[in-house]
Amino acid sequence: MQQAVFFEISGWEQQYVKRRLKNTRVLFVDKPLTKETISKAAGADIISVFIYSRLDRQAIRSVKKAALVTTRSTGFDHIDLEACRKRKITVSNVPFYGENTVAEHTFALMLSISRNIHKAYMHSLQRDYSIEGLKGFDLKAKTLGVIGVGHIGLHVIRIAKGFGMNVLAYDVRPNKYLSEILDFEYGTLEEVLGRADIVSLHVPLLPSTRHIINRETIRYFKKGALLINTSRGELVDTDALLMALDRKILGGAGLDVIEGEQLVMEDSQILADPSNEAKLAGLAKNQMLLGRKDVVYTPHIAFYSQEALERILDTTIQNIAAFQKGAPANVVA
Ligand code: NAD
Repeated sequence: MQQAVFFEISGWEQQYVKRRLKNTRVLFVDKPLTKETISKAAGADIISVFIYSRLDRQAIRSVKKAALVTTRSTGFDHIDLEACRKRKITVSNVPFYGENTVAEHTFALMLSISRNIHKAYMHSLQRDYSIEGLKGFDLKAKTLGVIGVGHIGLHVIRIAKGFGMNVLAYDVRPNKYLSEILDFEYGTLEEVLGRADIVSLHVPLLPSTRHIINRETIRYFKKGALLINTSRGELVDTDALLMALDRKILGGAGLDVIEGEQLVMEDSQILADPSNEAKLAGLAKNQMLLGRKDVVYTPHIAFYSQEALERILDTTIQNIAAFQKGAPANVVA
């Protein structure tokens, strides 16, 4: 019988998998796969991870028995695909599970800024119920710029249309049919950034999209526009974002992801050992960003709804069963 090990998986998820995954010995590790926990995967044929597990070249080298890595996420930038190919390890993902889930969260961030929900909440905690400084703006008739019209981007467009927004989109593979059906336009990156009141990022993290928002492209933005990022932190150069907020090129940012978001989670460790200057500098920059009143941050929870988590587990179980039948599904490498 094959052995599977699931990393960074909570109690109820473990029960969910146990009840449904057949003919497989399963080991659960609640922490991510790291140098400290990788020994748990030593005898595993199948490794399931989430995005805080780093399967770099060195990690791949040490999981000698592994034949399948199945990530419980859409993005797979935490896995060295080349190293997996060399070792003939199949890599599967969950290509869609929550386009509505992430798209709904995108609007939670957008509305939080457009209607000052975060500020009103902070005021009410202080028993300040005045409306001073809380005037917002309508989404209706504003232009939303969608960068990346895939599963999530398309759902964002559908919701935006419900709000009565105009949509302008940028994608390397434009789909004319969909743009006619959903009534949106495509433009170049420069056009979209230049015309949108709110820009929302939905491209995957690739060498071609890393820092797609940088010191150059930030200059194209319409003055005072909002930036929403629920995709990957590394799409945005933090220095450029801080500069744009300081100079009011951007009126605000709603961020579910930031560059080096791991640093924020490890802040007490980093502060306890300040010898790693690069980490300390990264943490300081992130804290500067997250402490701003014009920034709303959620700690990478856009995917995090009960329904989406169940869909992720269902697809992962199907990925394992398909692999065991010799017909791997949702293969990315
Ligand atoms: P998708 O693959 O369906 O769509 C991505 C789109 O980006 C495609 O249409 C593709 O053509 C386009 N694209 C690729 N490279 C491009 C480039 N250089 N310039 C312009 N367009 C480009 O992906 P999806 O399911 O919509 O997910 C998008 C991303 O959202 C994922 O890759 C993941 O990183 C992120 N995500 C985040 C969360 C979260 O919890 N915050 C959850 C799920 C997914």
